[in-house]
Amino acid sequence: MRFELMLPHMIKTAIEKNWPVVLPLGVLEYHGEHLAVGMDTLAVVKTLDILEREMDIVILPPFYYGASSYVVEPPEGRGSLHVGAQVLFPFAQEMFTGLLRIGFRNIHFFIHHQTENFTVGMPTDLAFKFAARQAIFAFLEKERGEGWWGRAEMADYYARQKGGNDPFNWIKGHPLMTDETIRNYPFDHAGVGETSLMLALCPEAVDMEHLSAETWYTRDAAGASIELGMKGRDLVLAHMRNVLGPGAL
Ligand SMILES: [Zn+2]
Repeated sequence: MRFELMLPHMIKTAIEKNWPVVLPLGVLEYHGEHLAVGMDTLAVVKTLDILEREMDIVILPPFYYGASSYVVEPPEGRGSLHVGAQVLFPFAQEMFTGLLRIGFRNIHFFIHHQTENFTVGMPTDLAFKFAARQAIFAFLEKERGEGWWGRAEMADYYARQKGGNDPFNWIKGHPLMTDETIRNYPFDHAGVGETSLMLALCPEAVDMEHLSAETWYTRDAAGASIELGMKGRDLVLAHMRNVLGPGAL
């Protein structure tokens, strides 16, 4: 379900049933001469489109304006659009606070950009993770007052945390591809992995006639195929079902 298309009675149902509310998070970044600049975000958007057909989820309008950085190429004429993490942080904090105010308690974001080492983090995901934490702390303090954690009714906090019922789980960030996925699928920038994924998910974002072998990171993209992309798509979908499905903590 698209959040922007929902009526209030549907929003109330989503809150009541605790449906996952998912933000596709990404960037606009140069991906060689043969791939669209929205690749990293489109990969999230298009897999969620598939998941939406089989699961009750609320999909927020995607956020494309992350910190792409200019490490791959300078932006002039190439399209990387960088917004610094220091600006993303206050934006994301307000946005998460707004979602908590609506009543959502099962909020997630998925990101593909620079997620090869998600545990350590990179500017865009760190800004959103930090913002999520700050939003939850501030929200709880406003709702419950200072000292809420130390009160007697919180004595089972650690037990509840083990069961997944912990307010700090209200907002969670995920890489599109887990370490496990990366062991089974090539993780790259505009190489065979990303190009195949786009061929399978969003062919209008690929034009192999423009592929250039001049840059090291695009060199193996010539070997891209829809079949490989479908394998990546299925791995990503399995991971999404795992973290968003009814049994997920
Ligand atoms: Zn990418």
